[in-house]
Amino acid sequence: MTHEESPGSQINGASRFDAVIVGAGFAGMYMLHRLRALGLSVRVFETGDGVGGTWYWNRYPGARCDVESLEYQYGFSDDIQREWDWTERYAAQPEILRYQNYVADKLDLRKDIQFSTRVTSADYDARSGEWTVETDRGDHVQTRFCIMATGCLSAARIPDFPGVRDFEGETYHTGAWPHEGVDFTGKRVGVIGTGSSGIQSTPIIAEQASHLTVFQRTANFTLPAGNRPLSPEEVRKSKETLLADREHARQTPGGLICFEYNEALAEEMTPEAREKELSDRWTQGGFAFLGSYGDIMATPEANDIAADFARAQMRAVIKDPAIVDILLPDDHPVGVKRLCLDTHYLETFNLPHVDIVDVRAAPIERISRSGIVSGGREYEVDAIVFATGFDAMTGAILGVDITGRDGMKLRDKWAAGPRTYLGLGSAGFPNLFFITGPGSPSVLSNMIVSIEQHVDWITDCLSRLTSGNIRSIEATPDAEDQWVAHVNELAGETLYPQANSWYMGANIPGKPRVFMPYTGGVDVYGQKLDEVAQADYEGFRLGA
Ligand code: NAP
Repeated sequence: MTHEESPGSQINGASRFDAVIVGAGFAGMYMLHRLRALGLSVRVFETGDGVGGTWYWNRYPGARCDVESLEYQYGFSDDIQREWDWTERYAAQPEILRYQNYVADKLDLRKDIQFSTRVTSADYDARSGEWTVETDRGDHVQTRFCIMATGCLSAARIPDFPGVRDFEGETYHTGAWPHEGVDFTGKRVGVIGTGSSGIQSTPIIAEQASHLTVFQRTANFTLPAGNRPLSPEEVRKSKETLLADREHARQTPGGLICFEYNEALAEEMTPEAREKELSDRWTQGGFAFLGSYGDIMATPEANDIAADFARAQMRAVIKDPAIVDILLPDDHPVGVKRLCLDTHYLETFNLPHVDIVDVRAAPIERISRSGIVSGGREYEVDAIVFATGFDAMTGAILGVDITGRDGMKLRDKWAAGPRTYLGLGSAGFPNLFFITGPGSPSVLSNMIVSIEQHVDWITDCLSRLTSGNIRSIEATPDAEDQWVAHVNELAGETLYPQANSWYMGANIPGKPRVFMPYTGGVDVYGQKLDEVAQADYEGFRLGA
């Protein structure tokens, strides 16, 4: 078997399940596996026609993980990691999707996943203690537990540019890329957006396009990923230690062991020692750079040193001084927007057929029938690539019309920003769980480690509920208030809130500005999860 994508299998037409899981990415797949092993009846609903989540949708050219493949894989199964051989330091999207299909085959997951089905609503009935879940295919199912495995970056977003529907050429969003791929050969292409997706796709699109214009609103810090093939020896060795490595990763702030955090503060180091640390980590590639010293994300002076270093490295690659001025970030600390890892991104702007337009200075006014209008000038293009990001962390959850106790809508409850206890549940919504929800480390960590942490916790919780004949679990308002305050307080001690990032909801007009992930680290957060479970789910109300 090749583990290429396979269509969903026929599933039975039952209308009641112990648990419904929304989404069949890394989180939904593992959750299904664990709950089935508990003996629960489970149905997964997935919008796509295959497994994979993020890696099913984001098929844009150059899509590649920014966490090393030896760490960006499941850690729960010795068999899986022994059988699967990663080929590159940072796996490209097709390889990750093949891996997910291999896991789905191996664990026979598809028989419980209903594909091509979007969940539209979930309503809680206090009398029966059950949720009713409805889909765009007319399903109407009852379930005791409802688990949102909807992903943090899955609600793709195209800004509401005037005229966007009038454009007569082709349009694409990086997060909803055509499965058959796109050939830009000989075309004039406009890429809007310079986050990770724009930065990864730009060099590849430039190889095909006759002319490429990149529209940048915020210059981003980017460093060479340092991708390379993995040697058979590295792969073999990693298999001997993966399970122990995963345990180790859970004890780190980022859920990663490919680098260590230097705990010394910047001012405690000599300038030479700092320079060496920054330089070594820049060369290493990846997020090691942000571990150069202990206060890099906490004090402006410490961050400035790293930001200056990063700008100097970036400047050295770009030939045209006018382009340097546009491409070098100068309005936010390094790391507070997601650091981008690239392969020849900056070099791309040395090519004669590639231009950059600073749309901070001259915002995009509209899309015309034949191009993009900015600063009173029309840039004619045959195709537009929107690398404009996502309604992150809350978009996919609130994309489902969720109604809890007493008719309370989650959309209303979260109107001023998401409110959760531990990122796992929200008061007034019994038996509803979020995997890597807002208020948990999620996007500030190795997602797979955080997904496994939540799935394991939820599995243990449901096992204890069902064996103890406990019908429901629900965050208390007090515990939730305290957790939200704690998450905000921790974020306030960092530089993160200083940037207009998607972590803050700042990329979506009208979205409340709240720093959504938990900044305290996977290690500290994991201890808190354990304590809560050991204290009979302190902060949750259990219902008989
Ligand atoms: P993103 O980081 O949100 O970037 C969106 C880009 O579009 C930004 O440059 C943004 O500018 C721009 N933009 C949005 N609205 C605009 C408007 N109205 N006018 C002009 N420009 C506009 O989205 P992304 O690149 O898809 O990445 C999102 C996250 O996904 C990443 O941060 C990362 O966590 C994850 N990701 C990871 C990988 C990887 O593993 N390597 C790859 C891709 C994505 P502003 O910055 O000014 O808002």
